Amino acid sequence: MQTNTYAMDESYALYEQSKETLCGGVASNLRSAMKPVPLFLESGSGARVFDVDGNEYIDYILGYGPLILGHSHSELLEALSHRLAAGQQFGMQHRGEIELSRRLVQLVPNADKVAFSGSGTEAVMLAIRLARAYTGRSKVIRFEGHYHGWSDVIYTAFPMNAEVSASDMTALAGTNGQSAHALEDIIVVPWNDKDRLEAVLKKSGNEIAAIISEPVLCNSGCLHPLPGYLEWIRERTRDLGIVFILDEVITGFRVSPGGAQERLGIQADLVTMGKAIAGGFPLSAVAGRREIMDLISQGVVNHMGTLNGNVLSISAGILTLDILNRDEGAAYRHMEKMTERLVRGLKALLAGHGVAHTINSFGPVFHVMFTDQPEVRHFSEFLKRDAAGYSLFVEEALRHGVVLRPSGLWYVSAAHTEKDIDETLERLKIVVQRLFP
Ligand code: PLP
Repeated sequence: MQTNTYAMDESYALYEQSKETLCGGVASNLRSAMKPVPLFLESGSGARVFDVDGNEYIDYILGYGPLILGHSHSELLEALSHRLAAGQQFGMQHRGEIELSRRLVQLVPNADKVAFSGSGTEAVMLAIRLARAYTGRSKVIRFEGHYHGWSDVIYTAFPMNAEVSASDMTALAGTNGQSAHALEDIIVVPWNDKDRLEAVLKKSGNEIAAIISEPVLCNSGCLHPLPGYLEWIRERTRDLGIVFILDEVITGFRVSPGGAQERLGIQADLVTMGKAIAGGFPLSAVAGRREIMDLISQGVVNHMGTLNGNVLSISAGILTLDILNRDEGAAYRHMEKMTERLVRGLKALLAGHGVAHTINSFGPVFHVMFTDQPEVRHFSEFLKRDAAGYSLFVEEALRHGVVLRPSGLWYVSAAHTEKDIDETLERLKIVVQRLFP
């Protein structure tokens, strides 16, 4: 059991160097939020990562979600190195594309056809374009606290004050430089609130091309839909000719082989997937109903990308899905078991030190919130958590060898073992003792 905090001198030094030539010193803005310093890693194996200072950590960021099989899965890497010897990118067709699209059609409910791209952001852009072309309408309804990537067509900011949350439906720019025209087409509504959504549908239902939603709001508190809520959206969108898009970039292939659609028994018109699909290689997909997806086949909707369908990502996708679905989904059962063990241990640890908290989970994804609200079911409630207190916990956890996201979102992989979980709890025990003596 570690008792000393980690030194991170080399990470500090490299961060300074990095900032000289790399914007912000990180490759994606969010990563600069890591405290005390954005870690520079040397390698990863299973559930563990190793930094440039020689420290070893148990990882619950998992590459922001894609590493569902853990770091450097030996079978995946070996198969890919053989595959790569025959070429990594053709810009022409190969058998793997057929194989993976077949797998997706088999696994994902309501998926008649599939289109591949490189990131979750691109998949969402394509789904929205398809919805607009299919309906001939331009507006898109999205929900507070959900994240669908950083493109102008859907990225928005939210008031981070629970009292003013969703006080109007205006989409706020997510960043300087975002197109004001793109924002005019976005309507933001609080999630899990039928009345507010129904009011928008009554007023503008025939202008709406799509409603997009995470099935469970993994990005903000792992909030579950209230009973019947998604089913009601499904029904209303069907009535009004609106395309219902479920964004399964986090939940796809993670919470069950068929994602949240399968687990919750709900069927969208289009579903977007990314992250876990290729075990850490860049790949995303849109899948859905034939008459919408066929707009691409007919040349009505353009879908492009130099690296789409590249050999490496497609091969990684096929193998990742095969490994996950082996032995009647043993990997899924394992991830759930490890998550339950970890969540149970965390709850006991925090409660034992009088730290008021709520943990919401969905399969091997969960969200830890420091709050005295016994239940967090709405974004406005999520905003009331003690984000600053939690961020201190995350920083101290890093100094003791556990990598967490400041947002509160944890991922557990198929590589996490009982030993990893128990060691995590031991390390966090020291953290909690220090912070909440
Ligand atoms: N949709 C959801 C639900 C996400 O969580 C994310 C990323 O975190 C995205 C879309 C965007 O995916 P990417 O970061 O691969 O562009």
